[in-house]
Amino acid sequence: MNSAAAGRTTGRIHSWDLSTGVDGPGTRFVLFVSGCPLRCLYCANPDTWHLRDGRETTVDDVMAEIGKYRDFVTTAGGGVTLTGGEPLLQPTFTAVVLRRCKAAGLHTALDTSGFLGTRASDELLADTDLVLLDIKSFNAGTYRRLTGGELAPTLDFATRLDRLGKRMWIRYVLVPGWTDDPEAVEGLARFVTGLGSVERVDVLPFHKLGATKYDALGIPFPLRDTPVPDSRLTERVRTQFRAHGLAAH
Ligand code: SF4
Repeated sequence: MNSAAAGRTTGRIHSWDLSTGVDGPGTRFVLFVSGCPLRCLYCANPDTWHLRDGRETTVDDVMAEIGKYRDFVTTAGGGVTLTGGEPLLQPTFTAVVLRRCKAAGLHTALDTSGFLGTRASDELLADTDLVLLDIKSFNAGTYRRLTGGELAPTLDFATRLDRLGKRMWIRYVLVPGWTDDPEAVEGLARFVTGLGSVERVDVLPFHKLGATKYDALGIPFPLRDTPVPDSRLTERVRTQFRAHGLAAH
């Protein structure tokens, strides 16, 4: 694909935003790509689930927007993060955006559940500096009930990323009664310890900020009555990861 044709590649996106903290190093331009094959019970972005609800846009348009913030995010030690939804649901669009960001000298991060990891080409990954890999549970049954999908593709993807030496941050959403089981956390910690290219583990306390989106969409928020984790539980889980020598935040 020549660069003019690549720029005309279209994708469906939900929105973009600037963030600092958990979406990769520094301040980031965060692109929310539409469409997701999973249905996590705690999902804070149900408005990104359906590809058809996204706004069709070209890579050129996205890059023009990113260009406005290029100097700002670079100076802030950041870059661009593709998230969603699930960016690998639109692998061609995602690959071209990542390629163009790299060509523009920007740091790139891909936030993914890994469920569609086989759709990520080696070229796409070569243009990705950091993968934020969301491992939603280490128990296959819990993973299925929590997300509607299977755990194995995510673990296969993690192993492939490690083989490629790809830098990873693991993200783990902590939901009382769902992902706080000490044995499952232990299993995940052991698995992650075996991945040499993992730099840190982010334990993200479940929150209900997306509840109003469910109301607006007229769909039930399944975890409405589930408590958010208190700081003691969050610290217990972080400590479990740290006990394996992992940098847990
Ligand atoms: S993978 Fe992410 S966007 Fe998809 S349902 Fe789960 S939390 Fe929501």
